[in-house]
Amino acid sequence: MKLLPISILFLLVALLPLIASAQTQSFSTSAGVVKITPLYHASTLIEAGGKTIYLDPAKPTKFDGRPKADLILITDIHGDHMDPDSIKAVSKSGTEIFAPPAVVATVTSARPIANGETKTWGDWTIEAIAAYNLKRGPEPGKLFHDKGRGNGYVLTYGGKRFYFSGDTEGVPEMRALKNIDVAFVCMNLPYTMPPDEAADAVKAFHPKVVIPYHYRGSDLAVFQKGLEGTGIEVRLLEWYPK
Ligand code: ZN
Repeated sequence: MKLLPISILFLLVALLPLIASAQTQSFSTSAGVVKITPLYHASTLIEAGGKTIYLDPAKPTKFDGRPKADLILITDIHGDHMDPDSIKAVSKSGTEIFAPPAVVATVTSARPIANGETKTWGDWTIEAIAAYNLKRGPEPGKLFHDKGRGNGYVLTYGGKRFYFSGDTEGVPEMRALKNIDVAFVCMNLPYTMPPDEAADAVKAFHPKVVIPYHYRGSDLAVFQKGLEGTGIEVRLLEWYPK
């Protein structure tokens, strides 16, 4: 009788990491598997080749128990993307940071990467893609995200290309992307774009898989419907865990 509870306990302990990482997506590449885990809103964990990358680590994500960062990528200056406390929480000695020049003004340990620039980091290639508003802003004549300040990123590893849009509308630089395997695309009003516009922009560059992120308050069914029949796989993940 004593053995049964113990074996169940062992089973639960063995299953815990699986339960915790149920949202993790694994992508095979010629250099090995890339694992991508949604954390919260824009915060994303990327793991490959024994290295850990965080994109926009920010509150309310708790980083206790998470691996420390080898690389941190920041997309823009707002608190849901650039959070000095979270950067500190995931950093260790030797952590490298790439960020737009406007972020480097605050996060001084970061190395600048501007729209259109390409860097290599280990086995990764990092391309900074312009992310900005075309028409939406806090008042007439102003935009939430000015062109030139924020970066999206195309990250290439083992021949696979992963795109993270950052905060943007469906700008020409996004629509012109080529050979994207997996695209993480933002949508939320009033700051970026509504789901129908996001779907339209995604259609233009036709990734194999698209994963909405940074979508607080958006109707993802509208986004899914907008891509029906295109052959683009829409994957929905939980970016707002309770
Ligand atoms: Zn944002």
